[in-house]
Amino acid sequence: MKNRSIFLWLCLAAFFFIGSSFLGYAINSADEEEPELTSKKDVTDVTSMIEPYNIVFLERYALCDEYNLNCSATGYDYTPAEDLQSLNEEEIRALFPAPNWSVFLDDRDLTITHLLEGLCPEHKKIMHLGLNQSGEYVTICYGPSEISSLGGVYLVSDIPFAALNDEQKDKIIHGSYESQNLEELQGILDSLGEIN
Ligand SMILES: [Zn+2]
Repeated sequence: MKNRSIFLWLCLAAFFFIGSSFLGYAINSADEEEPELTSKKDVTDVTSMIEPYNIVFLERYALCDEYNLNCSATGYDYTPAEDLQSLNEEEIRALFPAPNWSVFLDDRDLTITHLLEGLCPEHKKIMHLGLNQSGEYVTICYGPSEISSLGGVYLVSDIPFAALNDEQKDKIIHGSYESQNLEELQGILDSLGEIN
């Protein structure tokens, strides 16, 4: 009987020993897993720490720029095919190549400008009385007077510049006849033709 109870005690001891070892192992492996979890968490934190780009798309027009027409660069709605947030600066530049685009990155402020020919929509609305290319005839030209006939010509009249009086000549040269209203310009043109 004594042997048997010793045996039982031994079994019990062995059971606790194995049990506690297992528990220890379990705790250890939990300890080991923890740094891994922490490092995964760190990676997530690093990713979320990269701020998204603050993207602005602009349009600029060559004639307006060249003649300093002071049009504010117009923002426009543009949805790029790719998600720019996942791209680096080089990849973004490759998507928007010069000379038609310019890419400017300041910290996380990303400005992508589409460089276009001609006049901006605002300056396109304006027309003026100027001269045709040879400088002989009074002409209705597209755009503000600063760009003379470079914006294109709507109508070359048969009124010779030489036939105008000094005041009219002066007004034509200084681009005084400028309007968004074509009919108004046409009216002025008609009156110039009648007087002379
Ligand atoms: Zn403009």
